[in-house]
Amino acid sequence: MSNLIELYRDLILDHNKNPRNFGELQNATKSIEGVNPLCGDKLKLFLLLENDLIKDISFIGTGCAISVASASMMTENAKGLDVNQCLELYAMVHSMLIGKDEIDVERLGKIMALSGVKAYPSRVKCASLSWHALKQALSTNQLTASTE
Ligand code: ZN
Repeated sequence: MSNLIELYRDLILDHNKNPRNFGELQNATKSIEGVNPLCGDKLKLFLLLENDLIKDISFIGTGCAISVASASMMTENAKGLDVNQCLELYAMVHSMLIGKDEIDVERLGKIMALSGVKAYPSRVKCASLSWHALKQALSTNQLTASTE
């Protein structure tokens, strides 16, 4: 078990140090800002949607290691999915972050690295910020998403 915790910690540190898909997407068809006032995490998400498919996705922003690592993992996983698949993944990640049992560990894969936050309610918002923004971007026309 301690090996798993170490692996998860290393994954988060790596994604925080070298965030994937970091930067503005010039040809984005949609963008949304997300804030987590509790911790001070801020991000802006860029999506290139073609029909229902996420052809490309990126983010910029500043925040704690958990929020940056989570956004990095989110973009890595959302790229190439269609809207429904993304919303399904969002629901699964949300269940994982709040500590529900009925989650598909195989499907979540490395995103499970974020599962440790369930013990810390304030950290759940750091981890869910980018996923929340993704869901908002896909399901509404709002331009901002807040965890509060
Ligand atoms: Zn945070």
